[in-house]
Amino acid sequence: MKIDALFFAAHPDDAELCCGGTIAKLAASGKKTGIIDLTRGELGTRGSVSLRRKEAQSAAKALRITLRKNLLIPDGAIENTFSNRLKVIRIIRTYRPDIIFFPHYIDRHPDHFHTHELVKESAFYSGLAKVKTGNLTPFRPGRNYYYMQTYAFEPSLIVDVTSTFSAKLKAINCYSSQFFNTSFKAEQPETYISSKGFLDYIEARSRFYGFQIGARHGEPFVTEEKIKISAKGLFEI
Ligand SMILES: [Zn+2]
Repeated sequence: MKIDALFFAAHPDDAELCCGGTIAKLAASGKKTGIIDLTRGELGTRGSVSLRRKEAQSAAKALRITLRKNLLIPDGAIENTFSNRLKVIRIIRTYRPDIIFFPHYIDRHPDHFHTHELVKESAFYSGLAKVKTGNLTPFRPGRNYYYMQTYAFEPSLIVDVTSTFSAKLKAINCYSSQFFNTSFKAEQPETYISSKGFLDYIEARSRFYGFQIGARHGEPFVTEEKIKISAKGLFEI
């Protein structure tokens, strides 16, 4: 099965938080999308691995994604090794996405910038014929997009996600153990991301980038490659 756009994330919930509007928008336009979580998020302070798995399944439905897989790399130990690259290469060669999304290389959480390095290198080596993966033939995605996690960057482009911001919030709210939720067990310790202020920040950021493109909500991305645009595309700017 071909997937048009694959989103790689260190932890279940990263893709929803950073690209949920874009994922839902692609799905609404008929594109097949997939999220590849590298770890199960087992180092998360709140909740448990099994709860997080159920939350991720619900969030996948909210965003109408076609595929969600977990590479089962240990949380807190995402390393750019040959065996981990082969795991990512097998995914890329199996689903042959036109575009892939993964974290920006500057971030607060080491798992995030390690994911950047691992996925970027894997996407390159996936195109080399002499990197063997059984019956899977070489394939390299056409474009890499980096998404924003903790630290802000100057975007190459901003996707208008006004029409899908509510789907993004619905997906985020599926993670009742991770984010602000008055009904979740009070004895669980509060974390950086579980306060009400964090969700306010996500919405404020969405409005901040949306305003810059004349929209209500926007998600920022960086791409290192130059962007080709058609004559028709010039008028869409
Ligand atoms: Zn994360």
